[in-house]
Amino acid sequence: MAEASPRSAPAAESDPKPVCIVCLGMAGSGKTTFVQRLNAHLHERRKPPYTINLDPAVRELPYPANIDICDTIDYKSVMKDYSMGPNGAIVTSLNLFATRFDQVLAYVERQQRERARHVLIDTPGQIEVFTWSASGAIITESLAASFPTVVAYIIDTPRCANPVTFMSNMLYACSILYRTKLPFVVVLNKTDVIDPKFAIEWMRDFDAFHAALAAETSYVSGLARSMALVLDEFYQNLSCVGVSAALGGACIDEFFSAVDAARVEYETVYRPQIERLKRERDRDEETAKRRQLERLRRDMGRGEEVAMTVGSEEGEGEGPIPTGGDGFQIDLDGGEN
Ligand code: GDP
Ligand code: MG
Repeated sequence: MAEASPRSAPAAESDPKPVCIVCLGMAGSGKTTFVQRLNAHLHERRKPPYTINLDPAVRELPYPANIDICDTIDYKSVMKDYSMGPNGAIVTSLNLFATRFDQVLAYVERQQRERARHVLIDTPGQIEVFTWSASGAIITESLAASFPTVVAYIIDTPRCANPVTFMSNMLYACSILYRTKLPFVVVLNKTDVIDPKFAIEWMRDFDAFHAALAAETSYVSGLARSMALVLDEFYQNLSCVGVSAALGGACIDEFFSAVDAARVEYETVYRPQIERLKRERDRDEETAKRRQLERLRRDMGRGEEVAMTVGSEEGEGEGPIPTGGDGFQIDLDGGEN
């Protein structure tokens, strides 16, 4: 890792945990530019964030990363050593990095003491190598298990001016929401190129989206109409902000307000769920341990009984034969379990 080992002093109870913002989105949607913008904005407000880059294939980072996967893993060597193509090498690099993610969590933990309020996480260009890989899930879940975590789903708004393209992007967003179950903020990026009004209207007003689809003559438009009904439910409580990662401005404050609301959602909905799951898992483990112990006791007891019977039938000795390994062998042959 790029940093010195974290100190071990515990954080004060009153220090709020930093909120982790995981930036996801299609290649070229502007994730890296958005992280750069958030970083600059927070520095201006004298609330420096902690930045993590998880894209091993990035050529040049436009922001200083506190933890950079490129410092730990040489993506080009992974390609060469494992004879892989670019996507395979990104996944392998992420897998390798995920095995050390406990160390990253320790660095993030330290930010609570150092009063960073935000941890910005940039992800690989190709969204699926993160969202559909085991390491992506491990990274997101381990962050969310320890810190308030929010997904910022970045959309390339000019590319979504076509209703079918817009819908396929939102379907992807929907699948990520269901996979991560984390609070979600949709970031309509590149508003310096196009006004995001149309997209917001399509999300808020089903008839408006239907009307836009009516102009579509392709064979998928019928399917799109049915899918739009499904998505209508998804849009109901969806938080959505239009931003220009390139230019910044007031829209970035709006984004942080949405993150504050998402943090409350994490605390009230997501965290109790994690804690309930953890309690259930602990209880299941406890029950399994108790069952094993009971079985062990039963088996040992039966071993003693059988040993006594065998001993008296064959008239060898008076007392019970010592149990242990023998008892288990007898039980296995008898096959109660
Ligand atoms: P990533 O692959 O999602 O990390 O996308 P990048 O941050 O590398 O951005 C992809 C391209 O979109 C770059 O050429 C950026 O300059 C451009 N870009 C990003 N955000 C904006 C924006 O708000 N407005 C405009 N006009 N271009 C942007
Ligand atoms: Mg990028």
